[in-house]
Amino acid sequence: MARIDIDDVTKRFGDGEDGIVAVDDISLYIDDGEFVVFVGPSGSGKSTLLRTVAGLEDQTEGDVVIGDTIVNELGPRARNIAMVFQNYALYPNMTVEENMAFGLKMSTDMLETEIEKRVHETAETMGIEKLLHSTPGEMSGGQQQRVALGRAIVRDPNVFLMDEPLSNLDAKLRTEMRTEINRLQNDLSVTTLYVTHDQTEAMTMGDRLVVLNHGELQQVGTPLECFYRPSNRFVAGFLGSPS
Ligand code: ADP
Ligand code: MG
Repeated sequence: MARIDIDDVTKRFGDGEDGIVAVDDISLYIDDGEFVVFVGPSGSGKSTLLRTVAGLEDQTEGDVVIGDTIVNELGPRARNIAMVFQNYALYPNMTVEENMAFGLKMSTDMLETEIEKRVHETAETMGIEKLLHSTPGEMSGGQQQRVALGRAIVRDPNVFLMDEPLSNLDAKLRTEMRTEINRLQNDLSVTTLYVTHDQTEAMTMGDRLVVLNHGELQQVGTPLECFYRPSNRFVAGFLGSPS
């Protein structure tokens, strides 16, 4: 488990007039075990901010601190973070069991038998034990997303980063998976950063909501605070606050 300190982080792509400031001087402290939802229009910097925390992008300025460690120089693996994306990114030629075991084999020195045990326990938690010998192509979108979550939690990460993980699912499955993700996060108390552009997810899933626009932080607060006491016109318009 881990607290996260995003400290004056800026991410620029390109230089000069053609340059884009994707993340504009953002500071945010996230407590251990907190579930924080990031919302904002397309291009507002949500994915870039998450990728910076994950170590998939180097920030141009500022620090990312996870636990007590400044992780600026650390690659994604060393940060012990699990990411889940909208396209599940499962390995198509591997079974579910192999997909889930792969990350453990690469990043730990666990014994084969320990890995097998851990994969089976996690599969049970996720209700996917019957799928262990299936390949992704044989499963529905909802099942694949469940496996992607299973593959993320099997590594017992410090932090979950989820970037619109449910946006490829139909409405019924989305509702189901929302509940599932909240249940998991409650059980595991893993610090979670969750990106969405879905209003319902923004209002219901997190402890706190972070609203972004043009790479800038517009408001941080509980979903109800942001909704009923928007800090500016943009937030009010975006969340559909009563006027
Ligand atoms: P969001 O996830 O909120 O839709 P992004 O973080 O993907 O927003 O993008 C923020 C801005 O940064 C956008 O203007 C986007 O075009 C730009 N951007 C993102 N990734 C890159 C990249 N690899 N190279 C250049 N520009 C990028
Ligand atoms: Mg994005």
